[in-house]
Amino acid sequence: MAWLVFLLFIMGGIYLLIKAQRKKPKMTEVERIKEPPQSIVTGMTEEHIVRLAGMLDPAIWKNPPLTVRFALDWFRGNYRAFELEDGRAIPVPPDYRDVAKIILRSGTELTKEQKRGYGIHLNAKVSTSAIEHLTQQGLRDCVQEAQTLALAIGAIEHSLINLHDWKEWGEKKVGFSPAPDACPQCKKLKKTYAIDKTPIPVLDTHLGCRCCLVP
Ligand SMILES: [Zn+2]
Repeated sequence: MAWLVFLLFIMGGIYLLIKAQRKKPKMTEVERIKEPPQSIVTGMTEEHIVRLAGMLDPAIWKNPPLTVRFALDWFRGNYRAFELEDGRAIPVPPDYRDVAKIILRSGTELTKEQKRGYGIHLNAKVSTSAIEHLTQQGLRDCVQEAQTLALAIGAIEHSLINLHDWKEWGEKKVGFSPAPDACPQCKKLKKTYAIDKTPIPVLDTHLGCRCCLVP
């Protein structure tokens, strides 16, 4: 009798496990998209790249436009396609932390002696080109700056692609929506704009801006 109860108990457990598995929304990564078509036409242009590069600290970045172009290329080349339950595939941009890592890891990895010389942890994956791009401010600043840049590129591309799509759908106006803890300058921008006249978060505000546009 006891073993029967035990068996029922185990079967009940298996049933609950399967049920919990089913509840997860199905979103399967199907493939990596090389160059998602919309961002070539609608994302950052050379003018935007130069404008963003101009916001980077020249004391930290040695060649800001080169770094922005490099990071943007990687960002665009690493969209992934996710397939939804209804069969539609949606492109998902890479995580900003991965973009930041790529900025820091591009090129040849530093030797242990070089890392020791820069005061960098010996297990850290930091490359010679990161050091070419960044001056010797220490690894913490390198990581922070790379993350800020990666976030900026993601935010600008997101806004520009959205604006393009909304125009296609016939939207004439767009709202600038400041982040809950936005700075006073960003809070002042809160209003509705003609779609071609709207300030773009980061590009027209500041690095680290987390405000967004709403249709
Ligand atoms: Zn802002």
